[in-house]
Amino acid sequence: MSTTLVKQDSLLEAKKYVNKVYETVIKRNPNESEFHQAVKEIFDSLVPVFAKHPKYMENGILERISEPERIISFRVPWVDDQGKVQVNRGFRVQFNSNLGPYKGGLRFHPSVNASIIKFLGFEQIFKNSLTGQPIGGGKGGSDFDPKGKSDGEVMRFTQSFMTELSKYIGPDVDVPAGDIGVGAREIGFMFGQYKKIRGGFEAGILTGKGVGYGGSLARTEATGYGTVYFVEEMLKDKGLGFNGSTVVVSGSGNVSIYAIEKATQLGAKVVACSDSNGYIYDENGINLDTVKRLKEVERKRISEYVIEHPHATYSDKGFEIWQIPCDIALPCATQNEIDAVSAQLLVANGVKAVGEGANMPSSLEAIDVFLHNNVLFGPAKAVNAGGVAVSALEMAQNSMRLSWTFEEVDAKLHEIMKDIYRNSVAAAKEYGHPGNLVVGANIAGFTKVADAMMTQGIV
Ligand code: NAP
Repeated sequence: MSTTLVKQDSLLEAKKYVNKVYETVIKRNPNESEFHQAVKEIFDSLVPVFAKHPKYMENGILERISEPERIISFRVPWVDDQGKVQVNRGFRVQFNSNLGPYKGGLRFHPSVNASIIKFLGFEQIFKNSLTGQPIGGGKGGSDFDPKGKSDGEVMRFTQSFMTELSKYIGPDVDVPAGDIGVGAREIGFMFGQYKKIRGGFEAGILTGKGVGYGGSLARTEATGYGTVYFVEEMLKDKGLGFNGSTVVVSGSGNVSIYAIEKATQLGAKVVACSDSNGYIYDENGINLDTVKRLKEVERKRISEYVIEHPHATYSDKGFEIWQIPCDIALPCATQNEIDAVSAQLLVANGVKAVGEGANMPSSLEAIDVFLHNNVLFGPAKAVNAGGVAVSALEMAQNSMRLSWTFEEVDAKLHEIMKDIYRNSVAAAKEYGHPGNLVVGANIAGFTKVADAMMTQGIV
């Protein structure tokens, strides 16, 4: 039999295996569309890996990696400012610990459910592996909405949340961080509650802490800066750059603000950003000081930007932000914010690169549109891995009881992002999909975890 036929046979067998495990995932996790979507994206790219290394099939790696090691779901009772009892639901999914303690953020948003937390936790396994740091994958959160709540309400909720979560985490077990709706304020309250319960100062229990009590410099900036560093590498390979380009960034939270900051430092003009109510367009380039004050200090809506900058415009149709012509699009808000129609609009308007600062912001169909139109496409698990990478650097500093300077951490982050890019490019090429960073990042992230799983036995 010719080598080509053998190769075709192995690919067919690998595809059959992947489809069979995917069917089990769907059956075992009914009605969890976001989790299915994340699993499908990764599974499909792994076919060439199983064809080349049947040992992974023989050892049931896919069956094991797609089933969380543990899922914790719990009641979070708290009392609001009117004295009324409120109840939310808390989650922590401890997905995979073969590379290190579970690591991943906590999301507080009304849309949070088991499907969202599982999709995020599953992605986190591969993202964390890509960073090259010793961290496993996990994620958590609650359907609590911090928007419109007083500081006192947020504190009472987070204390109740941590009272239960504290039973399952630890500096060598599971180290949560922030995500949507969980920033410095929420991390501070949770750290205080954990310290009170445990009766000791365990800095390594959470990352994203304030720099005054064990946080790392450059952690706040890390995801946004890392997003831009990664896209810069993609552009460089094609002789392009941020300098002189027009950029659209969705969202106006932690990731968006620092993506805007770094892109602007590199000479780009960022003309639009958004929140869950709508988007602003400023043809002169967004004034970041205004956005930072509105969002980080005053916790206001992005619509207020146009009061101070009347030449800018506001639209309450947030999803239409992708109609704005740009060279580079950085979706940094939430999952599935770019569908196939938005992707086609971006392509028609000449977008050259898309970098996913948020987790899974593009639907599977949107990704296809970008790839088929030769748009440089950076997938979330590679592009936004800078946040968790610096979280791991925060853990390292906590263990050593010392602090690196902003410049030291930023330089390490920059190197990590370059490495992730290089490793993803190399894996895509090795497995027959040159230039496809979706495939490359999935394979580079997967093989390291799979090898660790093989070494550690069936547990
Ligand atoms: P954040 O500070 O809470 O900001 C989220 C931004 O997205 C806000 O502007 C928010 O608007 C907007 N948004 C949230 N849900 C939305 C929805 N359903 N529709 C439209 N806009 C929505 O959160 P973040 O930390 O920047 O996280 C943003 C994304 O990056 C998430 O996908 C997160 O998982 C991912 N990520 C974050 C980190 C990190 O280090 N923070 C690391 C890796 C990945 P409102 O204020 O109106 O809600």
